[in-house]
Amino acid sequence: MSRILGLDTVSLRGRTVLPGFIDAHVHLDSLGAFLNTLNLRGVGSIGELKTRLGNYAAKSLSRWILGRGWDQETLEEKRYPTRWDLDEVVSERPVVLTRVCGHAAVVNTRVLEMTGLIGGSVPGVLKNEAGAPTGVLVGKALETVRSRIEEQTTFQERKKLLMYALAYSASQGVTTVGFVSCSSASLQALQELEAGLKRLPVRVRVYLNPGEAGEMGLQALKHGSPFLQVNGVKLFADGSLGARSALLSKPYSDSPGNSGCANMGEASLRAVVKEACEKGLQAAVHAIGDKAVENTLKAFETVAECSRRLRHRVEHASVLRSDLVEMMRRLGVAVVVQPHFIMTDWWVVNRVGVERAGLVYPFKTLAENVKLSLSTDAPVEPLNPWETVYAATTRGGRDDIPLYQHTAGECLTLEEALHLYTEGSAYGLLEEGELGSLKEGRLADLVVVDKDPFNVSLEEVKETRVLATFVDGCRVFTAGGSGLEGLREQCLKRLSAASF
Ligand SMILES: [Zn+2]
Repeated sequence: MSRILGLDTVSLRGRTVLPGFIDAHVHLDSLGAFLNTLNLRGVGSIGELKTRLGNYAAKSLSRWILGRGWDQETLEEKRYPTRWDLDEVVSERPVVLTRVCGHAAVVNTRVLEMTGLIGGSVPGVLKNEAGAPTGVLVGKALETVRSRIEEQTTFQERKKLLMYALAYSASQGVTTVGFVSCSSASLQALQELEAGLKRLPVRVRVYLNPGEAGEMGLQALKHGSPFLQVNGVKLFADGSLGARSALLSKPYSDSPGNSGCANMGEASLRAVVKEACEKGLQAAVHAIGDKAVENTLKAFETVAECSRRLRHRVEHASVLRSDLVEMMRRLGVAVVVQPHFIMTDWWVVNRVGVERAGLVYPFKTLAENVKLSLSTDAPVEPLNPWETVYAATTRGGRDDIPLYQHTAGECLTLEEALHLYTEGSAYGLLEEGELGSLKEGRLADLVVVDKDPFNVSLEEVKETRVLATFVDGCRVFTAGGSGLEGLREQCLKRLSAASF
């Protein structure tokens, strides 16, 4: 490192530098928890799930046993795990294992008892033919369990998990995150972390749960810092394709008569979007099925001027008719997509049928018609941006994903994917003038990587490693042994003091 005219300079010895990635849709609190829970991604059978659960429970010191990532489609038994499966392994401590999509979970009998869900009438408790709860929970029942976990998470634990997620983001080359479905407790924890550290390792843009956008949220909206700002509220118009709860205009092809369900009716969606406008909050609405996207856009249309100005966001937009793309273009709203869904939802052609397959994840069409941001929905998908770039550019064509055959024309180029993941996402967060590009006058958020992605194959792009991450000119991550010199040791010291 040397100093020229009072500026720190560092030699990167010919390494590639890119603008830092901006992941516009992340569940930062769940990510922190996920990084510290049982990872069930890729589990191949209920037997394997039980073994992993048993091993984890034996080591885990926390009372609640939390896990995430199973998918009944990849289980040998081709069925949902049940509470009886879990009871065989852990019966005394509460166990909650969330499905890969986050919209369903299986719990053990202990959880059903302690939450009163076993005999109550809360909707979303799935039952077998004999009428007994199976332990699989969706919707309201799942929310009940989540709030119980939330109540029992101490504030110190929350701060620790959020800090863990922020440090992990920096390690992945993600320099700004859109934190969706943020609770007031998590916002307060972030504020305390920032007050203690003077700055957060990466920039956080917050989308509060609508019920929590009260006085505290509005104060935070007015008094944001470069590292922590409240942007808006996050709403849910429907569920997921995985759990067949995304709202489609025609029934699921593999579940006749079922078109999914609206999480919020049209009237309440309109009311909450209008209220967000009045408070100056950007509305980010989860809408996966085409009917949910339609309801969302109609709600945005009722406040058209504000939707354009505040750039209300459609999150996911997984099944998208061409009339809806046109409506998005006309309204000037932002659209936030997660290319890695293509890899996880490998069964999607069966769900929606061959005729509708061409409407699924149409990223190229979207990029040509609207302002598009990329994201991962982490921990739903891996936070590693290179996996998302690989998914966006190949669409599973090299991984036997059936959707590719129906939508090969929707592959993004590498250049488009990188642009949308940086400047595109900055647009979704209303900050394209400051973030997302390496230009004079922009903020110095950048990432140093081990290869030039334009000079290698897409398989190699997927394996790109981050060597160092800088936020606001400050080094917030260095890969071990990279030999790069640091900048501004002072801010580094403050950040490392926060590690645990
Ligand atoms: Zn999400």
